[in-house]
Amino acid sequence: MNTLLLNPVAKFRTLTLVIAAAGIMQACNSTDAKPADASKPAVAADSAAPAPVAKSAAKPAAPATDINGIKVADAASVLAKPEVPILCYHQVRDWKPTDSKSARDYIVPEESFRAQMKMLADSGYHTILPDQLYAYLNTGAALPSKPVIITFDDTDLDQFTFAKPLLDKYNFKGVFFIMTVSLGRPRYMSKEQVRTLSDEGHAIGSHTWDHHNVKKYQGDDWKIQIEKPSKQLEEITGKRIQYFAYPFGLWNPQAIPELKKRGMVAAFQLYAPRDQQDPLYTIRRIIVPGTWSGATLDARMKSSFGFK
Ligand SMILES: [Zn+2]
Repeated sequence: MNTLLLNPVAKFRTLTLVIAAAGIMQACNSTDAKPADASKPAVAADSAAPAPVAKSAAKPAAPATDINGIKVADAASVLAKPEVPILCYHQVRDWKPTDSKSARDYIVPEESFRAQMKMLADSGYHTILPDQLYAYLNTGAALPSKPVIITFDDTDLDQFTFAKPLLDKYNFKGVFFIMTVSLGRPRYMSKEQVRTLSDEGHAIGSHTWDHHNVKKYQGDDWKIQIEKPSKQLEEITGKRIQYFAYPFGLWNPQAIPELKKRGMVAAFQLYAPRDQQDPLYTIRRIIVPGTWSGATLDARMKSSFGFK
């Protein structure tokens, strides 16, 4: 259990230090994702040369459809759309004397979280859910004005006991990426609480079984970390699990086809540039530290996601 908890802490410590030192947008170097090469035209999966047709089965490759028949857009058009700001939270609770200075960047005290949510509401932001983002990125479906996605990772109990009532107050909906090993453990949400979130219209996604780094999976790991947790979350919510958040925000291009095979239609990382071939599987988020005021959050959303 301790290693489970310490690993994300250590990683975020590194990450947040980088953020602090270099500014949000520079932190992408803290992951080893492929660097973006703006000079290289993106090759869209859909526009690639047609796959050779097998001799006997002349079945044409079906267009990729995932949710309600939405056709997956080519990568270039996904990348060309203005990004929706996506926030990433972990623990929402007051700091304890034992919390390290760096840990405090991703433990958001109650008063800070209140101020951040109030800013979003007062500024006219509207929360959207992954299905809406997915439709927007693939078809250009309309979004409400000033859209934002509020995500929560790691299954922490305070997300339910403290953050949810505040989301409710403003009529906001959140996205909860669940690490299933923690369900029902002390200081984590129970299955019933996850079901309540889902029943009340919040979105539930997968954050693996026990937070292992996707880049290191081999053998049965895909089954243990992706297939089984999805099945469990589907049993809890009665809904399909199609969205994934990479532990530590870390991914590599090899992971993407594995996620596709297992029913994920989009995946969320942190600061790395989006993959030029698979931007839907490398959607960017920013970690909101506990030190940001509402005004700072507003400014960072605009600078990180490029809108005014
Ligand atoms: Zn996590």
